[in-house]
Amino acid sequence: RDEELRCIGCGAVIQTEDKDALGYTPASALNKGLETGELYCQRCFRLRHYNEIAPVSLTDDDFLRLLSHIREANALIVYVVDIFDFNGSIIPGLHRFVGKNPVLLVGNKEDLLPRSLRRSKLTDWLRQQANQAGIRPLMTTLVSAKKNHQVEELLATIEKYRQGRDVYVVGVTNVGKSTLINQIIKQRTGVEDLITTSRFPGTTLDKIEIPLDDGHELVDTPGIIHQEQMAHVLPAEDLRLVAPQKEIKPKTYQLDEQQTIFLGGIARFDYLKGPRAGLTAYFDNNLPLHRTKLANADAFYEKHLGGLLVPPHQNEIDQFPPLERFEFAITEKSDLVFEGLGWITVPAGLVVAGWAPKGVGVLVRRAMI
Ligand code: GDP
Repeated sequence: RDEELRCIGCGAVIQTEDKDALGYTPASALNKGLETGELYCQRCFRLRHYNEIAPVSLTDDDFLRLLSHIREANALIVYVVDIFDFNGSIIPGLHRFVGKNPVLLVGNKEDLLPRSLRRSKLTDWLRQQANQAGIRPLMTTLVSAKKNHQVEELLATIEKYRQGRDVYVVGVTNVGKSTLINQIIKQRTGVEDLITTSRFPGTTLDKIEIPLDDGHELVDTPGIIHQEQMAHVLPAEDLRLVAPQKEIKPKTYQLDEQQTIFLGGIARFDYLKGPRAGLTAYFDNNLPLHRTKLANADAFYEKHLGGLLVPPHQNEIDQFPPLERFEFAITEKSDLVFEGLGWITVPAGLVVAGWAPKGVGVLVRRAMI
């Protein structure tokens, strides 16, 4: 009987049947991987070579097993969120599976936000948003896993609050949990490479265990998939828009009522009613924004989708879901959030609408900036 093959990236058992499940590798890639001795599952392969995001699904059973495990453990929970997509980072029912365990909230990707913005202000905002979502972290901190900002400090904080316990790192997919774990491993061991199962014995199908000094472990758990993520409707080549890599350059507009801004062809903002106002857009620098009159907007979209308004590209517009509209009366300075994509900061007193592909949320929150 064949030995079990595991992905050297995430430790999942390699399988060639179910595309959406953990460890999937196309049969052709399997042979190549065996020849070269670099056997990755498709997800890790893409992540490594194209920096591409590929969600995998866990069955509900897998998931419940994992969650109940955390609840019964005596552990420190490190909850990683994407500061650029806080709402998309929320794990529904987190407090339930955390049990009595303390939570440390880590806002990753701080490098995306303008440098001029005071970090203490951001942390306050993040804590307040977490509280609103029913999460009461012991401590809230910002890092950039990619830029290795504040990761050492995070490790010191973990050490301080851990008090001889195991550490579980949790987060939805795409928040940068793997990048953070890799950074932690690099710091602790000086190893540059991706996580490999052979280096960390005890690693099982769905988690990666990093030994800590006192015999306890830091456990990486699989990313929990958030169904509303923009990542699920964007064509693969446009996924970079929901995982910006560079500091966001905010764009400010002086708008009159009855004006529209298209966010490529994937979302739309309407300023419906109010005085002339300054609005600021925070999106990936590569997302082209187009301003037009509200009265023409529908016709403009129809005419230019896949052309001037990209993504989606011409050959993708058939599969692209229609945009759905959400209207809001803004009562305090707020962000109109297109989940996963970014937001527009809107002053109080305006009536606005946000449009996003069916299945992707549009919501209003207290302004971050
Ligand atoms: P995971 O699914 O939570 O494990 O997320 P990954 O570690 O695979 O990261 C998802 C995406 O976010 C990738 O495109 C990463 O390059 C990007 N990313 C991760 N950490 C950071 C960060 O600190 N800053 C920025 N700008 N991007 C990051």
